[in-house]
Amino acid sequence: MVRLTAATPLELSEVDPAQCPICGRPNGCRRAARPDMAESEPCWCWDYRIPETLLARVPERARNKACICRACIERHGGWREERPSAGSAVSAKID
Ligand SMILES: [Zn+2]
Repeated sequence: MVRLTAATPLELSEVDPAQCPICGRPNGCRRAARPDMAESEPCWCWDYRIPETLLARVPERARNKACICRACIERHGGWREERPSAGSAVSAKID
């Protein structure tokens, strides 16, 4: 007996962790580029605050798998949070 499911080939396809789930462009995630990266090594996205409204737009299957790219974060009102990390006297300048 054939079971009908709502799954389409697109839904079954693997989520590309290097691709932004919002716009489909490369997200520049360091973790995606280097899966063997140490847990403690930060990715640029760790410094960003991502609005709930933007997170809500990420498809379920891409959650916690693919990062949203910087352009999408900024376009949707996300911001870079300055972290008081040791030895960093430089203020965040985005040119
Ligand atoms: Zn994007």
